[in-house]
Amino acid sequence: MSSQVSFIDETILTAIAGNGGDGIVSFRREKFVPRGGPNGGDGGRGGDVVLVADRSLATLWDQRYRPKVKAENGGRGGGSDRTGANGEDTVVRVPVGTIIFDLGDQAGGEDSLLADLVADGQRVVVVRGGRGGLGNARFKKPTRQTPDFATPGKPGERRRLRLSLKLLADVGLVGAPNAGKSTLLRRVSAARPRVAEYPFTTLIPALGVAEVDDRRFVVADIPGLIEGASQGVGLGDRFLRHIERTRVLVHLLDVGTPAQEERDLLAEYDAIRRELGAYDETLVERTEIVALNKIDLIADREVLGGPEAALRSRGREVVRISGATGEGIGELLRSILRAIDAEARQSDG
Ligand code: GDP
Ligand code: MG
Repeated sequence: MSSQVSFIDETILTAIAGNGGDGIVSFRREKFVPRGGPNGGDGGRGGDVVLVADRSLATLWDQRYRPKVKAENGGRGGGSDRTGANGEDTVVRVPVGTIIFDLGDQAGGEDSLLADLVADGQRVVVVRGGRGGLGNARFKKPTRQTPDFATPGKPGERRRLRLSLKLLADVGLVGAPNAGKSTLLRRVSAARPRVAEYPFTTLIPALGVAEVDDRRFVVADIPGLIEGASQGVGLGDRFLRHIERTRVLVHLLDVGTPAQEERDLLAEYDAIRRELGAYDETLVERTEIVALNKIDLIADREVLGGPEAALRSRGREVVRISGATGEGIGELLRSILRAIDAEARQSDG
């Protein structure tokens, strides 16, 4: 069985570089000379298509809607030895971790690895623009004062690419059973990643991609992943990578069932953290946002003030939400995004 089993986001992209502009035939106009010297300029270069890794992107979905990208053609040469303008490059932003394969021309041909974009800002030219043609000025020789020909621009390269991204979670959901993790994940998932070669469907519901303010990030229901991984023979390590990667955790506390006055929320919170720490001690050191969930069930929300203050005094950000009604979800997603960005800045520094 394949050991590459994982969540893969994939898309096919046709990249077309710009054609070189044509060189032109032109002659100086001089008094009394029927035909002056040649002054036809060269064509400009065609633009390249460049892929750049951008850590603010989580998926390849944008590319789905843009299966073909083309760079600008070079301009034709002009008279008076003017070279045509170079075509603009087209830059396509893809998530860090995107692997780029060339699908080749022939059906049945092997895909070849073109690039593996592993770092933010890393770029690769996937197709090169064609060179501009030469203007007739280039062809002047002592024996050929009035060349009346020029060369056309070269066509830009064209390639069919397969972009492939292993989705790794940015955010992990933790919390007691029935705290509402699955419900929250469903609510925040803009769509589901395509799942390639994935035989253990138990895990699929444990990953989603959230979207807020035009940004996207991958959310994992960590207990869901652990449960699923323990059902899938030998898959544990692959899925633990999701947990390793999550820099930010959202700890869900059910404050609605039963009525929270009868419970010690902080004791429940600490119990879950002890469990997390026993599983992996680095989990308790990560940035954590506490989401007080199921607030739709609470008539008197004043009662939340005490536990909230206690959690804040321990340095936690606290957000009130309802996975069922959607209340507070926008605020939660923005808090998560801020935390992800803060973590990214730290790991840069
Ligand atoms: P998980 O075990 O953490 O994944 O919890 P689930 O998402 O399966 O939710 C457990 C139960 O709580 C289900 O019956 C949900 O319908 C319910 N539930 C989850 N979130 C909310 C919420 O915000 N409000 C209410 N009223 N019920 C919720
Ligand atoms: Mg669940």
